[in-house]
Amino acid sequence: MKILVTNDDGISASGLWTLAKELKSMAQVVVVAPDREQSASGTAVSLRQPLRVQIASPLIPDVEAYSVEGTPSDSVILALGNLIKNSVDLVISGINQGPNLGDDILISGTVGAALQGYLRGLPALAISVVAASNLCLENASRLAKLLAKKIEAKQLPDDIFLNINLPDLPLAEIKGIKVTQPAHKSHIDTVEEGHDGKREYYWLVRQKLGTNVNETTDIQALEQGNISITALHNTLFRKPLSGITDSLCLELFRQLKQA
Ligand code: MN
Repeated sequence: MKILVTNDDGISASGLWTLAKELKSMAQVVVVAPDREQSASGTAVSLRQPLRVQIASPLIPDVEAYSVEGTPSDSVILALGNLIKNSVDLVISGINQGPNLGDDILISGTVGAALQGYLRGLPALAISVVAASNLCLENASRLAKLLAKKIEAKQLPDDIFLNINLPDLPLAEIKGIKVTQPAHKSHIDTVEEGHDGKREYYWLVRQKLGTNVNETTDIQALEQGNISITALHNTLFRKPLSGITDSLCLELFRQLKQA
C-alpha cells in the first residue's frame, strides 16, 4: 500500500511526522506538505503563480518527502499529478493541531487537502486533535493506521472521505467513537477592531465552539469526550454512508484500546 501524507500545518509539524511514522509500519509513505503553516486555507489552489518544490529532509528515516511553496490542495494535486510516479492508494491529511469541526470544515486546509485525494478517486482521511497544544498525537496516528488497514483489506469502500477529530485526552479518558454530522456552527465568526496608532486594523477571532444541543453532531461528540468520524462523502457529496457504521466505530475503539 502507498499512502500520501499531507497537512496544513506545514512540513515541520509534529503531527505530520507522528502520522508518517505510524503509517510507515504498514505502508510505503510519501510526505508532500506545504513549506509553512497554511491553516484555514480551505480548498484554495494556486493558479496565478508557479509552484516551487523542494526535497525535504524527512524527520523519520527512509521517507520520501517534499515541501511545496503552496497551499495544502496544491501539495496534493502536485503529489498525485507529478511527484509520485506510481499509484497512490490512500491520502491522509493531518494530524492537525486544532479542531476541524462544524461549518469550519469548509475553511479547513486539512480537509481541503484530503478533498483533492477524494476528487481523484482515492479514499481520503482528514484527522485532527482538538487542542492548540499538548497534543495526544498517538491516539490519532493509531486510529489512522487502523482505518488504513481496513481500507487496504477492503473492509471499507474506496470512495470514502472521512473527517476525524479526537479529543486531546489519554485513551483511558476517551469514551468511544461516534458517527457524526457537521454541526451548523463556526468558531471563526467574530471581528475585533483595533488601532495601531496610524491605521485601523481588524482581527478575525477564533471563539471556543459553544455547546451544541444536537446529539448527532461532531461538536457534541467531542464535548462528551468521544472521537468523531464524519462521512464527508455523504455530507458534501450525498453518497451513502457506506461502511461508516456504529458497529465499525465500536470495533475501531476496541482495537484502539488494545495496546
Ligand atoms: Mn492546521
